[in-house]
Amino acid sequence: QASEKLPQYPGLSERFQLITKMGDGAFSNVYKARERKTGQKVAIKVVRKYELNSNQENRLDPNFRKKNRVTERANILKEVQIMRNLKHDSIVQLLEFSESRDYYYLVLELLEGGELFHQIVKLTYFSEALARHVILQVAHGIRYLHEESGVVHRDIKPENLLFESIKIIPSKINKARPYDEEKEDEGEYMPGIGGGGIGKVKIADFGLSKVIWEESTMTPCGTVGYTAPEIVKDERYSKSVDMWALGCVLYTLLCGFPPFYDESISVLTEKVAKGYYTFLSPWWDDISSSAKDLITHLLCVDSSKRYSIDEFLAHPWCNVKDPVPDLNS
Ligand code: ADP
Ligand code: MG
Repeated sequence: QASEKLPQYPGLSERFQLITKMGDGAFSNVYKARERKTGQKVAIKVVRKYELNSNQENRLDPNFRKKNRVTERANILKEVQIMRNLKHDSIVQLLEFSESRDYYYLVLELLEGGELFHQIVKLTYFSEALARHVILQVAHGIRYLHEESGVVHRDIKPENLLFESIKIIPSKINKARPYDEEKEDEGEYMPGIGGGGIGKVKIADFGLSKVIWEESTMTPCGTVGYTAPEIVKDERYSKSVDMWALGCVLYTLLCGFPPFYDESISVLTEKVAKGYYTFLSPWWDDISSSAKDLITHLLCVDSSKRYSIDEFLAHPWCNVKDPVPDLNS
């Protein structure tokens, strides 16, 4: 069915049959693939070792090649190193890592729903119950990273939040209810896993992530005794960049557009720097004041006052028990 011609990768194609391309990045391609032996479907992130669009002269220069190889190797190995140590239901699992002369291969748990999150928010917005269902999964993933793994993700955004399985009918989305195994058969609005609704969401792309705390001791990385205060502080607050991003995602889920936007990058930068956003009428009129209060504590310019992940999870909005929306209304 995939008419597009897919490349052959040495050391990979023998074991995996590529099915379709799912993601396209500057340095990486992500494919849906099938392990030939077992039939298991996976996602494979293929990363080129060299920058391809550098000019010929550069590419022939052995020093350039060496330098480029070193930096990229360090980055991808860091991503792999971090992912290897993570195991959580809301984090995309790294299954295997290998390399050939020209490529790195990250074999990942497949999320067939892809980043449809992005499409959804372009089309419409989520009910509070559905937004809560989605954001709590992401938040539990972040809690695991921040509190149990000492990792900050640093690139939380809709493109890096992937659905396990989801099918969207835009006009029905606000009637969709959180996935409920018991009611699988009733999921005519949003056939997800087994037809029951909207399923699991997981955090992907650890390309920018960073370990800030030693796992064993839960102290800052590096020799603690000699670390300057601004470094310790900075590392403490770097978790807060994920919390800001979480606030942006939650805002976007609830109304369908992001909190900060401007055609001009310099104006946009200014708005973000000042934390200038509003709960725009009429879109926010019917959204609970509890949701707004939570967002206010996330989109807080002073990072020392911004909610931590534990404060987020303790907020009343996160602890409302979802009333199942009436499917017939
Ligand atoms: P990049 O560094 O290029 O952003 P990502 O790891 O974010 O790389 O992958 C790029 C895109 O590929 C994602 O936004 C998503 O659409 C898709 N993708 C990545 N990992 C998976 C996966 N495990 N399952 C399904 N799609 C994926
Ligand atoms: Mg990405």
